[in-house]
Amino acid sequence: MSTNMYDVIIAGGGGAGLTAALYTSRAMLKTLLFEKLIPGGQIATTDMVENYPGFPEGIMGAEISSRMEAQARKYGTEIQYAPVETIEKTGSEIMIKSGANRLTTKSLIIAVGASFKMLGIPGEKELTGKGVSYCATCDGAFFKNKEIVVVGGGDSALQEGIFLTRFVKKLTILHRRDKLRGSPILQSRAKKNPKIEFLWDTILTKIEGTGKVERIQIKNVKTSQERFFDTNGVFIFVGHEPNTKFIQGLVQMDEKGYIITRENLGTSVPGIFACGEVRAGSTRQLVSACGEGCEAALAAQAYLENLE
Ligand code: NAP
Repeated sequence: MSTNMYDVIIAGGGGAGLTAALYTSRAMLKTLLFEKLIPGGQIATTDMVENYPGFPEGIMGAEISSRMEAQARKYGTEIQYAPVETIEKTGSEIMIKSGANRLTTKSLIIAVGASFKMLGIPGEKELTGKGVSYCATCDGAFFKNKEIVVVGGGDSALQEGIFLTRFVKKLTILHRRDKLRGSPILQSRAKKNPKIEFLWDTILTKIEGTGKVERIQIKNVKTSQERFFDTNGVFIFVGHEPNTKFIQGLVQMDEKGYIITRENLGTSVPGIFACGEVRAGSTRQLVSACGEGCEAALAAQAYLENLE
């Protein structure tokens, strides 16, 4: 077991957390960042980022993630690839538990983001990894020349669906309404793509197959008609939920579990800040996550100056 006192601990290594780490470590604050999976968070599994300023040709999600990690490390950020399990505040000190480690910090930035939502239908859990996926860049290559469906009508479904057409023979987007939610540029690209078809007003009710996805049951929500549809894969992009279950009761959250922030991204607890997609009201864009990471870092810095 090790004990250590930090100026700033950052939970989460997506765009928000890595930018916060860059700013605090560059300000000579002793900074430790925890990331439970890979640097970059959701952006690391995005094929191409086209709307981060400064990259007119776009930049691969994995590349911008590793560049952000390298930049934070360059100024002294320590990174532990482990989940934060519990957070407690006693007086002005915040205690973090991660595995056998107990670490103490004067300030904390929560940037743990959000995870994909599941549909919660029969067959979904059982066939995850056997044809059901939530990550196009991770699993797309398994579907060369296959026929698949994508569920959802937002930017994720459209962007990831367009990416998947590199591999598949045919892709059907199932959307529960007859109007897409995603941005006009992605809608137009998806509608022009010869491999993409749309099934409107349609929900998925069941996924079936022996050892792998073979067919789905779908329902037209206007006519209530149900039918089976043969497919090799199901990619689900129906939104996100915040990764805040492990900190219930620590800071004020909204009814969905997103953290409510005040001025300068402070939470209801002094010394604890939140930024990026975990924050209620976030725009869920990489560029704003990075901006919020900067803002939370500057606020933590000001908080620490006032402590001394
Ligand atoms: P989203 O915008 O919340 O869209 C979720 C989609 O799934 C909606 O079309 C929704 O239908 C549908 N849906 C939700 N629950 C469902 C259910 N139980 N059954 C069937 N369909 C369901 O989520 P997202 O696409 O992941 O995007 C999240 C945020 O990230 C957005 O702010 C988006 O702009 C951003 N983002 C941006 C980019 C980019 O800039 N290139 C890329 C990816 C994501 P309804 O439309 O009927 O609600």
